Amino acid sequence: MVIALVFSVITGISFYKMRNYDATFVVREGIVEQTKLSDYNPNLEDTCGNADIFTIDSGKPGPSLLIIGGTHGNEPASQVAATLFLENATVSSGKVFILTEANKCGLNFSYPQEGAPQTYHIDTPFGEREFVYGARATNFVDQWPVPEVYIHRSGSKMSGQESRNLNRAYPGVIDGNISERIAYAITELVKQNDITLTVDLHEAAPEYPVNNAIVYHEKNSDMIGQIVFELEMKGVVIKPESSPKDFRGLTHRELGDYTDTRVFLAETSNASQGRIRGEMTEELIVTGIDKFYTKATELGITYVDYDESGVHLNERVGRHVATIMTIVDVYNRMPEAEGSLDINNMPTYDEIITNGIGNYLLNPDE
Ligand SMILES: [Zn+2]
Repeated sequence: MVIALVFSVITGISFYKMRNYDATFVVREGIVEQTKLSDYNPNLEDTCGNADIFTIDSGKPGPSLLIIGGTHGNEPASQVAATLFLENATVSSGKVFILTEANKCGLNFSYPQEGAPQTYHIDTPFGEREFVYGARATNFVDQWPVPEVYIHRSGSKMSGQESRNLNRAYPGVIDGNISERIAYAITELVKQNDITLTVDLHEAAPEYPVNNAIVYHEKNSDMIGQIVFELEMKGVVIKPESSPKDFRGLTHRELGDYTDTRVFLAETSNASQGRIRGEMTEELIVTGIDKFYTKATELGITYVDYDESGVHLNERVGRHVATIMTIVDVYNRMPEAEGSLDINNMPTYDEIITNGIGNYLLNPDE
């Protein structure tokens, strides 16, 4: 009993710390404005889902962009890429909206029995910068019970676990479960601000076919060829995937159907969320080096190649940043574009690979 008590105290403290962890993002004064998801759905007030919305507004009319990072708490490139925009971008025409923690209720715990570290660290010139490694789904504690079958509002039926997945909850329900409430707020954010472009950032297990890919709603068929071509010119080979019409609840389907935004979803490869991986460490999260994935690549069962050098977070974040910048460039040249969205001061794919993401993160203690 004493041993059990000691264990429950130790694990209890660890659990409590993560549940109450408040991530720090640097909000540059005079450049970035901060609002909350509860401004778009009051039912998120006083819940874990009430994330910050960061806005960089040039004050000049032009197209707008929403970057969705942190939908799935175990896909770090998504959150770090959004943070790079938050902490570096300046906008000289148009407006940029950034979510770094789209589902905060997936960032206050990690999956049991996975042995996942609660945080990971990125080397920067000012020391290490800490980020949270969370879970794919909304915390059980915040959304309970989990139904046997999740019935999306379209009538589409999914496994009950998907009721906790923000990216199955769109366009959302104003007073639904917490994941649906968050999805509702993000849909309203898009609608009320008439957001021109939306890019939802993700990562996938190396054995998952939709990898190093960009999923697009069919109304973007007129842009996708040029986006893929221009990314390839920058050294980023990416697969275009059309959004399946009967796969419901995802950003690239529902935001495309229910709003005027042109929506894309980008995937990079993350060994730490895969099922073949070995020991779950911070190093794996950042470097993507895993001997089992190297073996799996030799056996031909991964969709992204893993050699001894892994697939580093620098490359994954670089891909996301380049993908967003390319989508914006291509859109600016579309005949329908009224003015242009001009985002400055973002590093290129090559610069991120050469200098490392840490060189583009600000010091939260300054
Ligand atoms: Zn994801």
